[in-house]
Amino acid sequence: MNTTGKPLIGQTLDELKQLVAAYGLPTFTAKQIADWIYRKRVLHIADMTNLSARARELLSQQWCVGVAEPVERRQSKDGTVKYLFEAGEGGGHYIESVYIPDGDRATLCISSQIGCQMGCTFCATGRQGYKGNLTTAEILNQVQSIEQSDSLTNIVFMGMGEPLNNADAVLKAIAIMTADYGYGWSPKRITLSTVGITPQLARALDESQCQIAVSIHAPNAALRAQLVPAEKAYPMHDTLELLRRHDFSHQRRLSFEYTLFDGVNDRKEDALELAHNLQGLDCHINLIPFHAIPDAGLRPSPRAAMEAFQEVLNQKRFPTTIRRSRGQDIEAACGLLSKIKQTQL
Ligand code: SF4
Repeated sequence: MNTTGKPLIGQTLDELKQLVAAYGLPTFTAKQIADWIYRKRVLHIADMTNLSARARELLSQQWCVGVAEPVERRQSKDGTVKYLFEAGEGGGHYIESVYIPDGDRATLCISSQIGCQMGCTFCATGRQGYKGNLTTAEILNQVQSIEQSDSLTNIVFMGMGEPLNNADAVLKAIAIMTADYGYGWSPKRITLSTVGITPQLARALDESQCQIAVSIHAPNAALRAQLVPAEKAYPMHDTLELLRRHDFSHQRRLSFEYTLFDGVNDRKEDALELAHNLQGLDCHINLIPFHAIPDAGLRPSPRAAMEAFQEVLNQKRFPTTIRRSRGQDIEAACGLLSKIKQTQL
């Protein structure tokens, strides 16, 4: 695998056009390169056989395809696979992606940052701090380098990091995933999950058509500020106002993620308050079982409480799903991702 030089993966068609122009190569070479990277998935510039020998030679002086394999792979007994990638300039940092097969769906949960700045109290990633943003190349590499890449049906930005704190790279990655010259995916297959960085969310709603999942986790601002500190800078009230102004009727799905904690946010009155606050929004609610992490001072909600919570929301006409936990035995479940390289443990 050649990863010497600047990565071509992560370049938009326009950027590739500028690049080939700088080398004095014909404009159509840009489309050919995009085709080799995103469609034919070659690993070396030398394999781009319809490019002239001169073009390959010139490009190879400074560029590489830039697809790098995961450095570690762990498989759960339920079929979930967690991948570890080296990331960040100079290496030495790690990020994780989780492959989740489920019947005819095959979802890849990808990371957008090395660590996270949001500091949600229930999340192992939040505990490890923030080491930097991923580049568009590092985001797409997670999708393109794993062995199940060709059979993926869905991508969710629910791994390490807050995607909208790295909006430039994430929105560019989504643009490449959905472009004809890129993966050519329907935006319906991609979900961007956010705590609600309001200005960047407005931008994501404008610039992409992907599905939006908002991590709400609490029925009111006071409790949310304790669980999701970002509430103080980006109040959910503002996020909901923004979402209310957006038209979600054109097949774009809006969902809310709500992790349930025993005795904290899982009472029926919490469900009623949540339903009240989400009134008028055409949305789906995902209830997420909490996977305990040390010293969080939070316990998972009992199954009966989760079902009672779901029942209240269903009665209020909110389609609500209790998520199944996947990959718990390999720390791949929601909130458990945290840079683990097994050889370092
Ligand atoms: Fe960051 Fe998401 Fe963890 Fe919150 S839950 S700390 S936004 S990775």
